Amino acid sequence: MDHRELLGDAIKEECGVVGVFTPGEEVANTTFFGLFALQHRGQESAGIAVSDGEKVRMHKDMGLVNQIFTPEILESLKGDMAVGHNRYSTTGSSVLRNAQPIYCQSLVGEIAVAHNGNLINAVELRLKMQAEGEHFDSTSDSEVLARIIVNNLKNGPVEAVREVLRLCKGAFSVVVLTPNMLIGFRDPLGIRPLSIGRLGEKGYMIASESCAFGPVGAVVDQDLKPGEIVVVTRDGMRVEQGIESPREAMCLFEFIYFARPDSRMFGTGLYSARLRMGEKLAQEHPVEADIVVPVPDSGIPAALGYAKESGIPFREGMTKSRYIHRTFIQPDQRMREIGVRMKLTPLEDHIRGKRLILVDDSIVRGTTTKQLVKMMFDSGALEVHVRITAPPIVYPCFYGIDMASKGELAAARMTIPELAEYIGCTSLGYLSVEGAQKAVDGKTEGFCTACFTGKYPLEIPDGLKKHAFDDPPHVGEMATVTAGQGHLFDE
Ligand code: AMP
Repeated sequence: MDHRELLGDAIKEECGVVGVFTPGEEVANTTFFGLFALQHRGQESAGIAVSDGEKVRMHKDMGLVNQIFTPEILESLKGDMAVGHNRYSTTGSSVLRNAQPIYCQSLVGEIAVAHNGNLINAVELRLKMQAEGEHFDSTSDSEVLARIIVNNLKNGPVEAVREVLRLCKGAFSVVVLTPNMLIGFRDPLGIRPLSIGRLGEKGYMIASESCAFGPVGAVVDQDLKPGEIVVVTRDGMRVEQGIESPREAMCLFEFIYFARPDSRMFGTGLYSARLRMGEKLAQEHPVEADIVVPVPDSGIPAALGYAKESGIPFREGMTKSRYIHRTFIQPDQRMREIGVRMKLTPLEDHIRGKRLILVDDSIVRGTTTKQLVKMMFDSGALEVHVRITAPPIVYPCFYGIDMASKGELAAARMTIPELAEYIGCTSLGYLSVEGAQKAVDGKTEGFCTACFTGKYPLEIPDGLKKHAFDDPPHVGEMATVTAGQGHLFDE
């Protein structure tokens, strides 16, 4: 049985996690609002597990957070300590049994676990555990992690978490609930984010992103560092190093696209980081044009940065429907294409007769950009220069971002000139990996850039890799191209 059969499509999971403790006060509503603020990290299933100090109760289902949790359900989840989870995965494993939190119990105790990221050695660990008689209820890699914790509870929950840090490889930002303890921890490379917040006098919150704190009145305390464990009990909160961190490898794509712009990571607001990415993009790929047009919403800060740096006016060129979710969620290509047209519609008066610079965060399959370029030309644009803040995405992600398989990645299938021709733009320019990193905090260390460079911070087992890639395509160092002429130029 190969990796995919064992783990379904679990390697394509995207998730948000939250943990809350407010001593003596019901916590389900706060957890619900935290998950609501993290809805962008996963829209397929959600769940909340609550402890009243004695028992853990849980509710999870398929759907969006506000579809799943009615006031009656929240009312039934009694207790002052909780964990919650949002999940998105591609179709294969989109089933309730893979929804989280994962509840496990042993003779020693019970836990509920919510995991963001992907283990790359889950199959190996699972086969070993199965050989020792372990039974699994789901195809999720997170269950492997949860079962390691529950099997080691005899040494106390914190020791059990240390065992996970020793055994598991890959990306894992996790929150764990026991009847009397809330624990959060990050893998030794810190690939996915996790922040700690303070909530009122004695309360704490742990969340994938700090944007979950504001709406419920929590304030950022600190980012959990790679390999650290945060332990929240009725006596307070402490942070300890769970395992030595060899280096930091935080996902660069979180900064470019995935995380919400109002979150803070690495000591910077993500909106500001994206503005700086736009400025750098203008430096790396300048072009003469009349207006800079963002692809809303994700392209807005970068377009503002591009406009500022280039001196070319920022102008909205399309509107976005508030009632449609990420087109990416649509499972097949035709639905994705209709989805783009439902989501974004042109503002013809702004576009007609203009040479535009169209700024977006990323090209994955190329569906969105191709349609938007056509939409701009159909609305009378004279030229459409596409500028993208993510460097070309050439390699699949094994650490918890759904980047599609290599065969589907536009920049992996085509050279940059071919891609520019495919999407039909006048020119195409990508921000460099170095430019994107420097825009975050001025450094070029501490990031996972695997989807752009193929440099995976942890070696990927052959079984996972074989589905994914062969030789890297020749995207080379350059990234600006003029379609039609079929040649590359560095401006
Ligand atoms: P595509 O049409 O496949 O090229 O998708 C590109 C668009 O999808 C980008 O403009 C992003 O806004 C969005 N996107 C990129 N990566 C992801 C992801 N992992 N999950 C959801 N949406 C994404």
